[in-house]
Amino acid sequence: MAEKIDGKDVIRSVISAVEEHKGWLSEIDGAIGDGDHGINMSKGCGMALKSLDDQEDSFSGLLRYLGMTLVSNIGGAMGPIYGTFFMRMGKAIEGKETMGKEDLAEMLKSALEGVKKRGGAEVGDKTLVDTLEPALNGYRSALESGKAIHESIDAMIQSAHEGMKSTESLVAKKGRSSRLGERSKGTIDAGAASCYVILRALGESLKKYL
Ligand code: ADP
Ligand code: MG
Repeated sequence: MAEKIDGKDVIRSVISAVEEHKGWLSEIDGAIGDGDHGINMSKGCGMALKSLDDQEDSFSGLLRYLGMTLVSNIGGAMGPIYGTFFMRMGKAIEGKETMGKEDLAEMLKSALEGVKKRGGAEVGDKTLVDTLEPALNGYRSALESGKAIHESIDAMIQSAHEGMKSTESLVAKKGRSSRLGERSKGTIDAGAASCYVILRALGESLKKYL
């Protein structure tokens, strides 16, 4: 039976994963962008952590809170995009205290739709969509092939990792690095990398409650 989700615990795991990988994310962004992705993400997440204890307990509400904090505190391309990502995840599980396997699929689907709508990126454009869409598909195929929820979460994480890696050979079509054209090839995309870090932390943490 699914357990009531400790939303603050899950959100804290996501925030600390971003914090832990901050240097790496900025380093990747430095290769084909302006080198601030880790700093941007860490700044927004740090703001969210500061007032996390003052928030209500629902996981849905906390995801929205994280999204809203990112929109208001991250400069650059990612504030509105990760804001949408987390707010959409929260909306997908509104009113739920526990989650089942379909709920996680709905969260990922809703985030993907929101991010695509907000930024106009598709798979192949070298953005976080290249991590998020495979993650959703990998999770769904695992469930459809009869895998249990924890193995399906592992498949989601594995597919997110492959998606992130796939951006290495792509030419950037969106955002700052798209100005480099062909020269944007040869390094993974910073947003695809942060998305992997976030989905891995989210999946691993949710395993405790699913
Ligand atoms: P900035 O580019 O303003 O410095 P960041 O460094 O925080 O912002 O984020 C860069 C990341 O934003 C890129 O690696 C890419 O994944 C993502 N990105 C940029 N534009 C878009 C877009 N239109 N849709 C989705 N993701 C995007
Ligand atoms: Mg940048």
